[in-house]
Amino acid sequence: MNKIPLVDLKAQYETIKPEIDEAIRRVIETTAFINGPDVKAFEAEFAQFCGAGHAVGIASGTAALQLALLACGVGPGDEVITVAHTFCATAEAIVHVGAKPVFVDIDPRTYTIDPDAAARAVTPRTKAILPVHLYGMPADMDAINAIAQQRGLFLIEDAAQAHGALYKGRPVGALGHVACFSFYPGKNLGAYGDAGAITTNDPEIARRALALRDHGRAVGPDGKRSKYEHDRVGYGERLDTLQAAILRAKLRHLPAWTARRQAVAQRYLELLADTPAGLPFTPDDRQSVWHLFVVRVQQRAETQARLSAQGIETGIHYPIPLHLQKSFASLGYRAGDLPHTEAAAQHILSLPIYPELSEEQQTRIAQALREAVGSL
Ligand SMILES: *Cc1c(COP(=O)(O)O)cnc(C)c1O
Repeated sequence: MNKIPLVDLKAQYETIKPEIDEAIRRVIETTAFINGPDVKAFEAEFAQFCGAGHAVGIASGTAALQLALLACGVGPGDEVITVAHTFCATAEAIVHVGAKPVFVDIDPRTYTIDPDAAARAVTPRTKAILPVHLYGMPADMDAINAIAQQRGLFLIEDAAQAHGALYKGRPVGALGHVACFSFYPGKNLGAYGDAGAITTNDPEIARRALALRDHGRAVGPDGKRSKYEHDRVGYGERLDTLQAAILRAKLRHLPAWTARRQAVAQRYLELLADTPAGLPFTPDDRQSVWHLFVVRVQQRAETQARLSAQGIETGIHYPIPLHLQKSFASLGYRAGDLPHTEAAAQHILSLPIYPELSEEQQTRIAQALREAVGSL
């Protein structure tokens, strides 16, 4: 019996091998490893994809979050409102700039930040709100934007899982002051190593991000960096040219891949419609790009074991919410503080979803899940 992995990066490489190999060869032959022309070209293409004025390539999604916070001037003494139902990097970045993450609960239907909970968490020390477009689903950006505007806060999108997702017809990446993307290999647009980006419509934030990623080197109005002048203490968090070249080749395919993910998700919804499994919900004003297809099951460990016995790999994103992680214990949260987040963490199960997943594989997964949850 063939195994079905949670993600299958090899299957995708097989479909675009000549383009990828050519992109890698081009960078090596020109030895343009650092700040090569592919970086600038990718930034222009990705900015356009997001409908944003600027994109700045960064070494990872984690670094993109950290530099975006710094570019907004977030630092010691500041509070940043975010969710605990996310990958740990979202809150790590806040801690690393010296600020304090303030965790609020999610809307249990979309797994994204609950705007009312965010509004209640604002204090005089709040500097920014950092919603996460989790699983490819945009957060309720109009509601969050209203809070940010009313209270004079920065709105920073964690779009690491949501390249191309739409909120009221507009792509994520330019829905707040600044957005952060990850191109970790398993993301919807994945590099062949670590990579990330910051997008923004604010030229000043873009200019700061450009300087911060490259050791604080001064960037002139012409966009040229000064080699020997450092305006501020920065970081070594540039996007690698090899990764930029690979990302350019893959970005051209992203709309078709997203359409495939959406078709796979639609078919899961049909195949699993009359089961006790809790299915994902999409509000009318949003279009998810289905980074993950997450169902809710009562007996999760048993369900997962039964799928695994049939060669089907599943995942849990994420089993321990950040407010209950040892790493954030000093913030003083307790079990029970974020009920929707905690309930989700206990019952969610991620099924395989990727553009190359075949109908036959998907039928097998749905069949196995139906058996496991007792509706066959
Ligand atoms: C992947 C991810 C990150 C971190 O990105 P890296 O490129 O792995 O550093 C941050 N936030 C979320 C929600 C993610 O899924």
